[in-house]
Amino acid sequence: MDCIFCRIASGTIPAEVVLDSPLSLAFRDLSPVAPTHVLVIPKRHIAHAGEIQPGDGDILADMLICARRVAEFDGLAESGYRLVFNVGDDAGNSVPHLHLHVIGGTPMGWPPFAQQ
Ligand code: AMP
Repeated sequence: MDCIFCRIASGTIPAEVVLDSPLSLAFRDLSPVAPTHVLVIPKRHIAHAGEIQPGDGDILADMLICARRVAEFDGLAESGYRLVFNVGDDAGNSVPHLHLHVIGGTPMGWPPFAQQ
């Protein structure tokens, strides 16, 4: 399977890596929507958050710990940040490899969806 985020995880295509753990990789989004926009991915291919299985808890915990460390690294721990998993078309999911968006560095509105 040709998966762009698997290729980033294996180092065969470049990314601006922020953090590298045994289970996860964090790199900056190519099209940032905020001053900090980092994607945390599992190194093992999982298609999306709807495919998570009970045995994947170690991966999810590692991704969340990476997200916290990214937020600390970018100085967001006090000001706050948003963690997002997009699933499916209505959410705008475009890359079929699980990724957690870490977004911050600016105040963000709620609810997050744009007016159609
Ligand atoms: P999603 O809409 O949740 O599937 O988000 C996919 C994200 O991946 C988007 O924010 C893209 O800008 C980002 N993206 C796609 N290709 C790359 C890449 N090669 N390096 C970094 N970010 C990417």
